[in-house]
Amino acid sequence: MAKWDFEGYISELKRLGLYRRINDREGSQGRIVKVRGVEVVNFSSNDYLGLCNDSDLKERAAEVVRTHGTGAGASRLLSGGTELHRELEEIISEFKGTEKTVLFNSGYAANTGAIAAICDMDTVIFSDELNHASIIDGCRLSRGDVIIYRHADTAHLRKLIKDNLDRKRIIITDSVFSMDGDIAPVQDLVGLAGEYDCLLYLDEAHSTGVLGDGRGVLHHYNIKPEPFIIQMGTLSKALGSVGAFVTGRAEIADFLINRARSLIYSTALPAHDIAVSIEAIRKIQRDRERIKRLWQNREHLVSGLKELGIDTTPSETPIVPLIVPDNERAIRLSDFLFEKGFYAPPVRMPTVKIPRVRLTVSAVHEDEDIRGLLAVISEAKACGLL
Ligand SMILES: *Cc1c(COP(=O)(O)O)cnc(C)c1O
Repeated sequence: MAKWDFEGYISELKRLGLYRRINDREGSQGRIVKVRGVEVVNFSSNDYLGLCNDSDLKERAAEVVRTHGTGAGASRLLSGGTELHRELEEIISEFKGTEKTVLFNSGYAANTGAIAAICDMDTVIFSDELNHASIIDGCRLSRGDVIIYRHADTAHLRKLIKDNLDRKRIIITDSVFSMDGDIAPVQDLVGLAGEYDCLLYLDEAHSTGVLGDGRGVLHHYNIKPEPFIIQMGTLSKALGSVGAFVTGRAEIADFLINRARSLIYSTALPAHDIAVSIEAIRKIQRDRERIKRLWQNREHLVSGLKELGIDTTPSETPIVPLIVPDNERAIRLSDFLFEKGFYAPPVRMPTVKIPRVRLTVSAVHEDEDIRGLLAVISEAKACGLL
């Protein structure tokens, strides 16, 4: 008979080098963070623009707590939303050039809720093999048939679409892949979606605030937000807040308001978080230097790694993985960096197939941070950790 065996599971994880623990910070997110009692330079967050601890955003949050209170108290369809929620949706539609936007409480809630609502039994979902777990879970929750295509392989995708022309079709992809930092072949995907009458669902978690003046991958490639494109994005990464959005045709947004369970059956985000997102979008529109600085820092790191003979392909963005041969090495490299004052976590199965230490660069890093990190990576390489 089957028996509960949590202890056995945990020790097996430890044996395989796959055991994970939570590393809580003391104090704010930012360039320097305090972890396990030690201050380290932070290369681990998705706070690409350093907005998580921005004084204007903090001021705005405090102000709105005073006028709107703390909790939202109900779902959006009841009394949970405010005029700020509506305003943020309008600002996002304008920012993205789309008709209508609907907010979700997190990127995870957006993907699970929206994908499960949109994809019914008559749908075939074409999903990139490296899509984020929240997309995978959205696909699982839906009634659609999921067909995985090889990573960024549009020839493979075309063939799979051609074999499935009898049902409704949707292509789903991360715009920027969260663990490798490469950009999806969005121009080709838009072409394919147009040619074969598919919806195209883009997860803009790591492109919002990063690519195309912060507007995302379509703006980056100068592509119109066609009516068959649905864009999901998060407010929790580069925008320094929390929550997510889905934006596109007005009918799709209205449909989600009526069908997405993670939206209907969950308490809305409090107004101060929403106000922070509004302020963040305004800030990146006002101050283009921040995104420029992010990309300069990214170039500094990547060119330095190349000089050390470290291959950073396929990364094209501020996400730069250091690929290592095994889990043990990922942990040892991360620990080595930590001892030398740099924080970058190991990423292992099941998040990725190939273990790595994932570095993320931010606009608030200083040149000396990146120089220091490169020096320590060079040392690690000399010790055979890389
Ligand atoms: C982080 C992430 C999400 C989830 O967003 P949260 O707001 O953190 O829930 C979804 N998709 C991708 C690609 C992500 O990296």
